Amino acid sequence: MPFITAHKIHNGREWMPEYTVLEVTETGTILSIINGPHPEAIFYDGVLAPGFVNAHCHLELSHLKGVVPERTGLIPFLKTIPKHRNDFTEAQKSKARHDAYEELLLNGVVAVGDIANTTDTLDIRLRDELHFHTFIEAIGFNDDRAEKAFEYALQNFTAFAEQKVEVMRLRQAIAPHAPYSVSRSLFRKIDTHRPGSTITIHNQESRAEDRFFKKKEGPVTDLLQSLSIDYTKFKPSGKSSLQTYIDYISLGHALLFVHNTYTTRKDVKAAQKRFDEVTWCLCPNANLYIEGRLPDIYMLLEEGVGIAIGTDSLASNHQLCILSELYTIKQHYPDIDWEMLLRWGTLGSACALELQMQVGHISKGLAPGINQILMLDEPEMKPIVRRII
Ligand SMILES: [Zn+2]
Repeated sequence: MPFITAHKIHNGREWMPEYTVLEVTETGTILSIINGPHPEAIFYDGVLAPGFVNAHCHLELSHLKGVVPERTGLIPFLKTIPKHRNDFTEAQKSKARHDAYEELLLNGVVAVGDIANTTDTLDIRLRDELHFHTFIEAIGFNDDRAEKAFEYALQNFTAFAEQKVEVMRLRQAIAPHAPYSVSRSLFRKIDTHRPGSTITIHNQESRAEDRFFKKKEGPVTDLLQSLSIDYTKFKPSGKSSLQTYIDYISLGHALLFVHNTYTTRKDVKAAQKRFDEVTWCLCPNANLYIEGRLPDIYMLLEEGVGIAIGTDSLASNHQLCILSELYTIKQHYPDIDWEMLLRWGTLGSACALELQMQVGHISKGLAPGINQILMLDEPEMKPIVRRII
């Protein structure tokens, strides 16, 4: 299919001029972008756009689809997950991971920022049809155990780093799980592991998180107790979680804050002031699944910040589909236009994973994957996506 066009083409940033035609090789590399009609162009209904990028996923939790009830709140959700640790065989988990991988491909996703607490996802990375940025999570709230917690993350990191199938498609970094599950010493170790790397963190996903940092009280203390984590040495800062832990991270890092369900304007300003590269990742369907609430997206827009989109895991979502995430935002924030939403799900997410040299936009020489999206402008209909290249 050498020449393709559509009613509208989005290049990852914005709508392209009417009558734009793309010359594409069989393997998806964009050879040229032509202004004006072309007699040989194949015409697609609806919209063409670059492949979606999922900036936050947990493929290793795919077997937990439908296991945790909806709208329990984050703390009960987190208490439930470990209870199902032994409910599934390795074969069941493997099948669920591979099915989830297929689902990403089917929904037009070309790259994923994937959280790993184990090395379970080594197998699907080898399939080599998606760009992977695996964030190996470090967890440990007891300062005395920081060394041990980091050792475990480092072991996993090494296993991922040793996969040298196609270097450009596989990347990995160590990341802190969440403010309430990573001690100051562990933050420091993560910080110095790879200076300048992208650090991602589950941020302000529940109201309880800030309450814990401000006053050392509330449901987070119950969670830590239920997990037998000793937090006696923790001193509340009197500030929000974000305004506390950003001081533990050096200036050279790029930051990818995930969820941000309870993030305030003051938090956003503090992070944007401290770091040069900051992206705010939204996972709206997971937020609705767990907490029944969405972040203040209009506030993020007013602050003019970078936005990415993730699905979170199948433990807290019914599907792994970036277009479904964008549709949910559109339903709750109808003033946000599709031009901007598609940017968040493509280039915005690619930049957050430092993959903008590979995917996220339609540019000459790039092979970003091309999706056809139908029913985007029909308010009552849920749009659908189909990967065409
Ligand atoms: Zn997550």
